[in-house]
Amino acid sequence: MKNDLLLLDGDAVAGKMKEQLAERVKQLAVKGVVPCLATILVGDDPSSATYVRMKGNACRRLGIQSIRVELPAHTTTEQLIGEIQKLNDDPAVHGILLQHPVPHHIDERAAFEAIRINKDVDGVTTLGFAQNAFGFADFPSCTPAAIMAILDHYQISIEGKHAVVIGRSPILGKPVSAMLLNRNATVTTCHSKTENLMDMVQLGDIVVAAVGKPKFVQGDWIKPGAVVLDAGYNKGNIGDVDYEECLRNAGAITPVPGSVGPVTIATLLKHTVDAAEKTAALSSHS
Ligand code: NAP
Repeated sequence: MKNDLLLLDGDAVAGKMKEQLAERVKQLAVKGVVPCLATILVGDDPSSATYVRMKGNACRRLGIQSIRVELPAHTTTEQLIGEIQKLNDDPAVHGILLQHPVPHHIDERAAFEAIRINKDVDGVTTLGFAQNAFGFADFPSCTPAAIMAILDHYQISIEGKHAVVIGRSPILGKPVSAMLLNRNATVTTCHSKTENLMDMVQLGDIVVAAVGKPKFVQGDWIKPGAVVLDAGYNKGNIGDVDYEECLRNAGAITPVPGSVGPVTIATLLKHTVDAAEKTAALSSHS
């Protein structure tokens, strides 16, 4: 490993965030408020069940209440929306997370849109997406926000840098591109139809990999000194970046696992506490 290589330690970033959150949870308890995240799992996909369990455990460790709604795979779009509306109307619930993906027969977009904006702590609604693009979202999508939190934790400068994002999904590639642009980076967003991808990535001072393909980003695509953030999480704990190869050129890099993932969960907890604080502030004024 090069001496000047900076490893971007997501566990450390998440640990710091959780320390601050624990204090805020205590302060809310004094006012009689317990932040509460409701997670909805439809069907029995084992990875989704694991993610939901991890999120619930993370909540409990911090004193955040976690409600789990588990629905059978044959749930209809209407039934799912009905469950979301119950949670929208429940004043004790501050955040709602619908675990993605839902079974194919469900209109996932319609279900996401049913989440009320003040409870959309995972940033999945079109309104939340638009607010993020404008730069004033309360709850931007969690993984993009985690990537920005890592850059900020390590005081990596963004303004004026060329950021290359590989991937344009509505929960990751597009919102992180918008966030980098809002912070005055020059942003190139690549996707499956991008021509000369390697040439594009080689322009990046900051490279975000959000492709969903193990070890997709090659070492020789990385400009010497570039900052590489790997959001990928593939079977076998493998990222979207060929980590060993990219180490040679990168100036800073996130290992997988232990980087973007834990900060994503900490961001979800932070959004839930933010939402609970907002509700508490509103009820103290009414
Ligand atoms: P997604 O919806 O499947 O999107 C993948 C994106 O990659 C698409 O925009 C696609 O382009 C692009 N792509 C696919 N093949 C490509 C190629 N050959 N060249 C260039 N671009 C290509 O995935 P996602 O939900 O954004 O997730 C991306 C990765 O992040 C996955 O590994 C996922 O597991 C991980 N993830 C991690 C977290 C976390 O908490 N750490 C959270 C969410 C996701 P098109 O648009 O043209 O199809």
